[in-house]
Amino acid sequence: MTWLDLPPDDVFGLDNLPYGVFAPPGAPPRVGVRVGDRVLDLAAALGDPVFAEPALNPFLGQGRDTWSAVRARVRETLTDDRRRSAAEAALYPLDQVALRLPYEIGDYVDFYASEHHAGNLGRLFRPGGDPLPPNWKHLPIGYHGRSGTVVVSGTPVVRPVGQRRPPGSEAPFFGPSQRLDIEAEIGFVVGTGSPLGARVPVSAFRDHVFGVCLVNDWSARDLQAWEYVPLGPFLGKSFATSVSPWVVPLEALDAAWTAPPARDPEPLPYLTDTGKDGLDLALSVRLNGHEISAPPFAAMYWTGAQMLAHMTVNGAAARTGDLYASGTVSGPGAGQEGSLIEITRGGTEPLTLPGGASRAFLEDGDEVTVSATAPGPSGARIGLGEVTGRVAPARPFTP
Ligand code: MN
Repeated sequence: MTWLDLPPDDVFGLDNLPYGVFAPPGAPPRVGVRVGDRVLDLAAALGDPVFAEPALNPFLGQGRDTWSAVRARVRETLTDDRRRSAAEAALYPLDQVALRLPYEIGDYVDFYASEHHAGNLGRLFRPGGDPLPPNWKHLPIGYHGRSGTVVVSGTPVVRPVGQRRPPGSEAPFFGPSQRLDIEAEIGFVVGTGSPLGARVPVSAFRDHVFGVCLVNDWSARDLQAWEYVPLGPFLGKSFATSVSPWVVPLEALDAAWTAPPARDPEPLPYLTDTGKDGLDLALSVRLNGHEISAPPFAAMYWTGAQMLAHMTVNGAAARTGDLYASGTVSGPGAGQEGSLIEITRGGTEPLTLPGGASRAFLEDGDEVTVSATAPGPSGARIGLGEVTGRVAPARPFTP
């Protein structure tokens, strides 16, 4: 029981307690934990200077035992009546604070772990061929993205300009992207790194990954289609990647672990999974306030543990603050696709929004919000919050 006045079905109740970085009015940013519609100033409540930092990294680097101990202390603070008056002085209403990027992003990697998403795109881009490339079921495909343009939810997304070559055209055009899209994803935040030359086995996932967040991997499909062969995504992705302000610790997700889809064929031994590293997260994608998709994360073929094992199998180091994202979350059914290019079949079947507006891709002024919930330990759900962004017009440019 808590002395907080929280409804029992609050998705930010005591079973959740996600971490973020916030700035109270006129004060520097510091680490906080969200509870209900408030945020607890951890430096003030726990008296530990690691939380007076403007990023989660120093705390994340302290490791799994500390993460557990702090979570227990936060729960105690919010339940023990003797701590109430001190804790209340450290609670801020969310609408009075500014939420910041919660961690300094180390390296950013994006995977491609949904068989349904990869298959949908394969059918669009390589009609008649095998929808999955030959390596797809043997390794989680990924690419290194641009950590410097990872932004927190609410940051405007300026329409990128660049090169595109429409079908049938001999020469490329230069100008604002005409096919701006979203990718609804889950991100994994590395707490404990691994030294150069070491490998993180699948079984050590929870010693290294602190928690999960929401990611929108904004994608300019026209720029991407022209530039991606042979080295993969580049400027079609690197203009903005949005993340949610709250990191839900893995410890809050005990009731969400589930078996991933059956493996066929079995991957190589270093990728053998435990059979329970999938996560039963329910995503929702809203365009201008209307839900356009409900992707199920439980349908993802590769797990976060397999992604980390693969990412380090060559001896690449992992660092505190590294972010790796799952790739677009798409389920097997209609209404479960995590990107517009899938929903609208490459733009050929625009979707109609309530009110009659039609969209193949995003227009200036459009707002996209990705949210998610997970099963909590007490039967109620816990929330990952949301990541939102509004499309701003391309900046004027001189060629
Ligand atoms: Mn992506």
